[in-house]
Amino acid sequence: MKRKHKLGDPLISIVIPAFNEARGIQAAIGTVDEIVANEFEGYEILVVDDGSKDDTCEKIRELACKNPSIKLIKLTKNFGKEAALVAGLRKSRGQVVVVLDSDLQHPPSLILDMYQIWKTRGVKVVNGVKKERQQEGFFKRVSAASFYALMKTLTGSDLKNQTDFKLMDREVVDRYVELPENRRFFRGLIPWLGYSSENVYFSPDQRNAGTTGWSLPGLAKMGIMAICSFSSLPMQGVTLLGCATFLASIVMGIHTIGMKLTGQAVEGFATVILLLLFVGSVIMISLGIIGQYISMIYHEVKRRPGYLIEQTVNIDETE
Ligand code: UDP
Ligand code: MG
Repeated sequence: MKRKHKLGDPLISIVIPAFNEARGIQAAIGTVDEIVANEFEGYEILVVDDGSKDDTCEKIRELACKNPSIKLIKLTKNFGKEAALVAGLRKSRGQVVVVLDSDLQHPPSLILDMYQIWKTRGVKVVNGVKKERQQEGFFKRVSAASFYALMKTLTGSDLKNQTDFKLMDREVVDRYVELPENRRFFRGLIPWLGYSSENVYFSPDQRNAGTTGWSLPGLAKMGIMAICSFSSLPMQGVTLLGCATFLASIVMGIHTIGMKLTGQAVEGFATVILLLLFVGSVIMISLGIIGQYISMIYHEVKRRPGYLIEQTVNIDETE
């Protein structure tokens, strides 16, 4: 069934962040273009080149020169996917905006189902949710599961199997880009905005080309940032940790004084060493947790822009 829209109907924007995707980017944009061009009268595909080191930018530019609906935003360097998303969302003009990856892991055909849900059910957000996780190593599976469990306990929102593949109403996009924070976690912040949403389920495909841009340390850093930007509970946990060691020290103190008063020698040197090591570790971990929050405050108070645009193609900068 065709769902062609007449002039004046809402424009749909597709935002695609791309980092070192030269091998697959043209195929991905081509697939998305074919789907949306067939179904919507007005559309734009905003591809954000997030400081790629390969030919990604040239490949996008090549397509943009042939098709004015394909728009290029080139960032000065690699600012990370979250920043690239904000850059694309800020330039988007559609009544609805869809965010999807540039490696065809998010099936573009689902855009039409998402659009229908937005149109008929009146929800402001449609989430692409993974039916099952891709084949991943044991360590990645376990760390992802721990992250989502911790995130749910700390923030109350269940992000398991949620992805960045989302359709959003213009209102949601405007609220999202207006948020003052620089360090963002798109997947967590969109539910935080609180708009009505529905899920559509998909099985992620393998990447069409290239390899993932995420390293394990990168993922860990992102996870810690996400948890700390949604909850101050870990920092309050430091106080609890302090209270627990204080209680233990009272018990041990009474025991030690009791031993001394009854003329018995306080037990071994080993106990002292163990206690020192234990208290030292508690202090270091606590400082680390507090340091994480201070570093986030430090990055936010500098008020540096989250990204810089070097060049755009097919985008009217006067608007
Ligand atoms: N990406 C980006 N900047 C980065 C890393 C990734 O724009 O610094 C893009 C990447 O090109 C892809 C999307 O973010 O379109 C998801 O990245 P990837 O496929 O590497 O992540 P995964 O699917 O493994 O979670
Ligand atoms: Mg991917």
